[in-house]
Amino acid sequence: MAGRNGLFVPGPTNIPDRVLRSMVVSMEDHRSPRFPQLTLHCLRELKKVFKTTTGTTFLFPSSGTGCWEAALTNCLSSGDTVLIARFGQFSHLWADMCRRLGLEVQILECEWGEGAPVERYRDALAADRGHRIKAVLVTHNETATGVTSDVAAIRQVMRETGHPALLFVDAVSSLASIDFRMDEWEVDVCITGSQKGLMLPAGLGVTCVSEKALQARRGTANLPRCYFDYLDMLAQNENGYFPYTPALPLLYGLKESLAILEEEGLENVFRRHAYLAGGVRAAVHAGWNLSLCAKRPEWQSDTVSAIVVPSGIDGAKVIDRAFRRYNLSLGAGLSKVAGRVFRIGHLGDCNELMLLSALGGAEMAMIDCGVALEPGSGVAAAQRWWRANESAATGTTGGM
Ligand SMILES: *Cc1c(COP(=O)(O)O)cnc(C)c1O
Repeated sequence: MAGRNGLFVPGPTNIPDRVLRSMVVSMEDHRSPRFPQLTLHCLRELKKVFKTTTGTTFLFPSSGTGCWEAALTNCLSSGDTVLIARFGQFSHLWADMCRRLGLEVQILECEWGEGAPVERYRDALAADRGHRIKAVLVTHNETATGVTSDVAAIRQVMRETGHPALLFVDAVSSLASIDFRMDEWEVDVCITGSQKGLMLPAGLGVTCVSEKALQARRGTANLPRCYFDYLDMLAQNENGYFPYTPALPLLYGLKESLAILEEEGLENVFRRHAYLAGGVRAAVHAGWNLSLCAKRPEWQSDTVSAIVVPSGIDGAKVIDRAFRRYNLSLGAGLSKVAGRVFRIGHLGDCNELMLLSALGGAEMAMIDCGVALEPGSGVAAAQRWWRANESAATGTTGGM
């Protein structure tokens, strides 16, 4: 197909040309005396993105899922209880991994489209007088439903109940796009991957670990771990090396994407995501008269919108039509919401005009599939919203 594919799945995201160019490198000796510069630079600059001075950043050659596993196996023991709310495919998969690794999983079942149920976390923690729960797991941004949860509030109930469990946060589709505060929220392990807000290809598991979590690894935690052992990584990273061959081009890409984030300014990056999401939501509500999967406004994600298709319409057909006819990649409805939603990712290296193409393509595909819509209705609503909210726009990514 001629022209570029419109890539609007919520990860992998569009890669700035600067980042693409930075990764065209020859392989080099990762044991050379020059190599540590690159490692130490990336690990140090990443701390700013996690908003930590006390945490330790790690880069594993994996995707985000590998860092889920690293958090569990480094810090916990067989039979330990973890507390997790399940409200979408990613929180479901993480809970499933816990079970498969031999943990006791206490699940707070929620409707898909809800966010982390803060009061139910409080009740579960307050009821756990013997402190059997060793880790509290929260999915900051549930990518399947376009729902952002209040991690600060979960930490607050942990403080109020005096519960000593570790706090693990999946920020795979929020870090570097939606505000995240490792130190302020006293997060023990934060997990992300390279292919979402960090605007890189998939292939790096990016994680940040608190001193308390490292203490758990050094202490009695007994789940088997080897490739993902924090301590092996730490011992080599301290001198700027890795315990095995690192994903070299991705490290150069990361260096460049961190520079782009720094140039725009992290707070501006968050504002831009909120602003772009505002236009997409205007298209959904005012333009198309449709609703989002997110059940409350405060849960609406600034990185991905899951749009509920009218009853009688198959969301999978809309996505298929968009791809085949318009070369537009939209996110599928996963598992429980398969066929009921399609998703537009609006994270990473993204701006108004890119999103107008996604909205224009989505509405053509919906009309083709029988949805009663005026052509241009969503596009016009987004245009109006962005023009009316110019003050919220803060420049563009440096993705030239
Ligand atoms: C994408 C995603 C994952 C999975 O990450 P991979 O990099 O594909 O392993 C986990 N959690 C959330 C919230 C995600 O969006």
